Amino acid sequence: MSATSYEKRGKVAVITMASPPVNGLGAALRAGLIKSLDKALGSPGVKAIVLTGSGSGFSAGADIREFNTPKAGAPPTLHTVIAAFEASPKPVVAAIHGACMGGGLELALGCHFRIARPDAQIALPEVKIGLIPGAGGTQRLPRALGLEAALNMIVSGNAVPAQKLAGTPLFDELAEGELLDAAVAFAERLIREKRPPQRVRDLKVQHPNPEGFLMFARNTVQGIAGPYPAPGKCVEAVTAAASQRFDEGLATEQRLFYEVMHSPESRALRHIFFGERAAAKIPDVPDTTPTRSITQAAVIGAGTMGGGITMNFVNAGIPVTLLEMKQEALDRGLATIRGNYGGAVKKGRMTEADVEARMKLITPALDYAAIAQADIVVEAVFEDMEVKKAVFGKLDAVMKPGAILATNTSTLDVDQIAGFTQRPGDVIGTHFFSPANVMRLLEVVRGAKTAPDVLATVMKLGKTMKKIAVVSGVCDGFIGNRMLEQLGRQMLFLLEEGALPKQIDAAMEKFGFAMGPLRVNDLAGNDISWAIRKRRYVEKPMMVYSRLADRLCEQGRFGQKTGAGWYDYKPGDRTAHASTVVEQMVVEYSKEIGVKRRAVSDAEIVDRLVYALVNEGAKILEEGIALRASDIDMVYLNGYGFPAHRGGPMLYADTVGLDVVVRRMKQFARNRHGDPTAWEPARSLVKLAAAGKTFS
Ligand code: NAD
Repeated sequence: MSATSYEKRGKVAVITMASPPVNGLGAALRAGLIKSLDKALGSPGVKAIVLTGSGSGFSAGADIREFNTPKAGAPPTLHTVIAAFEASPKPVVAAIHGACMGGGLELALGCHFRIARPDAQIALPEVKIGLIPGAGGTQRLPRALGLEAALNMIVSGNAVPAQKLAGTPLFDELAEGELLDAAVAFAERLIREKRPPQRVRDLKVQHPNPEGFLMFARNTVQGIAGPYPAPGKCVEAVTAAASQRFDEGLATEQRLFYEVMHSPESRALRHIFFGERAAAKIPDVPDTTPTRSITQAAVIGAGTMGGGITMNFVNAGIPVTLLEMKQEALDRGLATIRGNYGGAVKKGRMTEADVEARMKLITPALDYAAIAQADIVVEAVFEDMEVKKAVFGKLDAVMKPGAILATNTSTLDVDQIAGFTQRPGDVIGTHFFSPANVMRLLEVVRGAKTAPDVLATVMKLGKTMKKIAVVSGVCDGFIGNRMLEQLGRQMLFLLEEGALPKQIDAAMEKFGFAMGPLRVNDLAGNDISWAIRKRRYVEKPMMVYSRLADRLCEQGRFGQKTGAGWYDYKPGDRTAHASTVVEQMVVEYSKEIGVKRRAVSDAEIVDRLVYALVNEGAKILEEGIALRASDIDMVYLNGYGFPAHRGGPMLYADTVGLDVVVRRMKQFARNRHGDPTAWEPARSLVKLAAAGKTFS
């Protein structure tokens, strides 16, 4: 099928973009557009042209499936196509409905007239993936819309309904009724009135005081852009529209486009854009895999996690039966949920009526009979294999056939849990992150026997809950916590060697984490990692652990909940204050274990902590625990506060250069104190580095 269709309506040629699902301007569509245009220009009977899109919209812009492939830049480029339409001696009318975004809008701006449905969605969203519009959008939109409105759209990337942009040269007419009929009628009028093409490039950018406004815009954008260069470049490009001749401005836009495209921040945002989409794909579970219907859920345990998980179901409109052992626990859990919703009401995000409607979807229960008909049950009871065994034994006995039995365990073996039932194919891990109603990450743990339709159903459920669902194989800690353990070990070694908590946190926060790792430990509770370490001392006696954090816990310094952890806290205040007691303890501990403290640089802190993640991530990939490096990045970006502009640990390693990373690891391995075995680079890492390749 051709990517465009061509028909004649009297003296008007109608060119229709027909490249589902969104008329992405891929190589085939671009070629089709030129072919159809040439046909119209070569037909003496054709006096005007209408360009429109089939399906749900005009065009949503570049074809993302061609990103990073040679097709993206294959001739004719979008520039060529737009220039050809703009240069047409026969007037071209763009008939716009649905999405008209990015390259789609740039193409429409190259047409001579535009008619739109009032609800058409107009946007130049490039900034959201760290780019600027690169096919004339920054030069033509300000001419068509005025400086201020255009700049707002370009810097925010947000879509605006056509109706709101009426009365400007951007739209010659809004069509309430049949769009194509209106566009053809408009074109016929142009022919009758012998109106020549009207080119946006010939318009002047309108503003009473462009210099003053642009200076204000530059300062404002600088203040809010954070580490991202694209918003500032948008202002620069629009400034060129106001101050340079059109062709000069186009050249400036091109230069700026390539500058941002090659920036690590833009690379990171594009990586996230594609990584989020890739995470949903499971090679041996195709999109066509049937899913089980989920209309009724159950959650076991109304504690920290059970409450948040219940909210996820309810927010997605799925009724939940919440089961506990005792009425008090149930009451407490329900009160917490109500309290959380109350917070949303205070912030104006929900009404009291919304809260009541959601609370009505929760049925409290103390008896397993009440959950027997649920389509899925998520277990969130104590992290103890014996307790899980008892619960899964009961679930196996009562749940209807075909129900999905999910566990929220963070450390236990999902296969062993599946083994407590006669239906291991129905068992899966759903590892939510705390607070479960807020955090976007969901690690979906695929057991050895998990059925493909169970996996497909839970991945779909994750999407319904607006989570980023990432598949993990079964291993201790799954993807995220297994990597974090290595970071945690190095963090403690760094303290022993000479760093203080505040220095480590400051270095990691400067790198981009919202919160340094010691503050995170204080927030999560130091007792949790203590419990894990105690298990490790038995299970992995060969693994070297610093006992410094145990010392902290022995003093009852569990973190914010006890008013003291690595830092001191004042009652009711989460601000971390450096603790002289802890700093003294750290210094004395070094002496005790015979380590001469040294000055540790911030660069060493960042490299050791981030590369500890990278090395374990590479091993996780080798073992097939994660399906792809970008999945690991999605885990870290959505569950562990890894700075988005770095794109996740694996992309960050790519950006630094894997050879550089490996060399640095070898250097760390010479430090007797940092557990040299930890710095044995993963085989895959060495191989990629030697071949000059990257994870992505
Ligand atoms: P929690 O102690 O806050 O809540 C557990 C709840 O389960 C309690 O209310 C308890 O009364 C109830 N419970 C215990 N045994 C039960 C039984 N047999 N039947 C019914 N209810 C029972 O614990 P949590 O932090 O919510 O953790 C729950 C699970 O989620 C654990 O497996 C934990 O490892 C996992 N998890 C926790 C976090 C976290 O940050 N807290 C994060 C991810 C996963």
